[in-house]
Amino acid sequence: MADGEQGPIEQAREFAASKHQLLIDGKWVEPASGKRFASHDPATGKPLAELAFADREDVDRAVKAARKAFDGGPWPAMKPSQRAKLLWRLADALERDAEVFAALETLDNGKPIGDARVMDLPYAVELLRYNAGWATKLNGEQVNPSGPGQWHAYTVREPIGVVAQIVPWNAPLMMAAAKIAPALAAGCTVILKPAEETPLTALRLAHLAQEVGFPEGVLNLLTGDGETTGAALTEHKGVDKVTFTGSTEVGRIIIRAAAGTFKRVTLELGGKTPSIILPDADLERAIPGAARGIFANTGQVCNAGSRLFIHERHFDQVVEGVAKIGAGMKVGSGLDPQTNMGPVISAVQRDRVRGYVRKGVEEGASLYSGGAEIDGEGYFVSPTVLTGTHADMAVRREEIFGPVLCAMSFSDEDLDRIAAEANDTDYGLGAVIWTQNLSAAHKLARSLKAGSVRVNGGGLDPALPFGGFKQSGWGRENGREGIDAYTEVKSVAIAL
Ligand code: NDP
Repeated sequence: MADGEQGPIEQAREFAASKHQLLIDGKWVEPASGKRFASHDPATGKPLAELAFADREDVDRAVKAARKAFDGGPWPAMKPSQRAKLLWRLADALERDAEVFAALETLDNGKPIGDARVMDLPYAVELLRYNAGWATKLNGEQVNPSGPGQWHAYTVREPIGVVAQIVPWNAPLMMAAAKIAPALAAGCTVILKPAEETPLTALRLAHLAQEVGFPEGVLNLLTGDGETTGAALTEHKGVDKVTFTGSTEVGRIIIRAAAGTFKRVTLELGGKTPSIILPDADLERAIPGAARGIFANTGQVCNAGSRLFIHERHFDQVVEGVAKIGAGMKVGSGLDPQTNMGPVISAVQRDRVRGYVRKGVEEGASLYSGGAEIDGEGYFVSPTVLTGTHADMAVRREEIFGPVLCAMSFSDEDLDRIAAEANDTDYGLGAVIWTQNLSAAHKLARSLKAGSVRVNGGGLDPALPFGGFKQSGWGRENGREGIDAYTEVKSVAIAL
């Protein structure tokens, strides 16, 4: 950095403080109502940015722009390789500006800047590149009908159309990239609505999309809230598909709203992921893995390993090890390079997490570690481990979305029984198994009712389908399934 040049944090602050508008039809515009709202820095609770509030009129304008760009517009007609090239250019631009994006994500969401640098940014870039690769590979297949007559028959995959994409606040840039990349690669046009708490990296990404040359109306961005902006999008008859990540409760509202016009819907909802430590597990990997699984991103992860089932032989060692890692974490501002755990997103979320811990203890759980309420400015909670919980307690059944672990022991090696306990939840997003026994790993992987099973590790990959069984959602993101979800299949048969 040359003398007088701004560093990434200053650039991110300057962007946050700049005037934000709505991106509709390739232009940054004021909201029709002129209304604005503030977002806050979760590490201080102080106002961070002032955003434009999109109401129904703005939603209508954005849908019209996306429709125009789709129906006879440039995007679906563009060669797949050109769409891929634009997505690659967007990935390159994001990689170029990664430091500023990481700082912006930390200011907006609170996560440690080191995590934003090594996880959120590279993953968002990879999502764009991975999905760019699919643009040129969306083929149908030749089909051999058995009915009377002779036919030349085949299927084609066509983009669904205009897609409304609603993302949450826990990993704003990654979520935005996970939504827009497959939709755009498939030839759909997009209206993206970031969460009201964390719109800044999505806004900056939309600026990059303009810079690299996405045609007008292909990517529109509306800031606002869920009740007005999100609801208007999910009800709008000009929208063909809604993709959503967030709470199971709002997922239900979206299903009802989409029913009016039979919109296609993909939902990535909550989870209560079980992590299972079998007697032969390598504890040197399992203990830090289990701690990372619940404490990463301050536990604000849909797939957080919030229920830890430990064989009784290792229970004391594992609980002590996880609690020690939690106690050793520096909780503070994500901009401090020493911080291991940032704040939760809001005062509401902080009080929600504390409320769960309090209720768990009132119902008879033991507070093994953490639980202390961190007062002062910003929205902080401490890494917490609960033992002595029961299967019907709220801390065991509901998604807390904070760094709160319920640790349980099991005494036998009956894999069916262990799976039944792990499956005793309304959710079915993920599951993690720690073992060195290949046969046990395969057997448990089959019997766990979860969309993703990981053995001796965790994490996401753009190539691996991700989504939930049961009340964790509908459909899958990532992988071939993720891009297929943005297409309709048409069968064509020609009598010979
Ligand atoms: P929500 O599900 O309310 O929010 C997620 C997104 O949906 C946001 O963009 C929100 O907009 C939008 N939204 C809210 N209401 C509607 C609606 N009626 N129609 C359309 N869109 C809507 O999550 P919260 O932020 O309230 O978090 C509450 C809990 O949800 C968490 O504690 C956690 O348990 C769970 N959650 C799960 C996530 C996951 O990854 N599975 C992510 C986030 C939360 P806006 O925020 O602008 O109002």
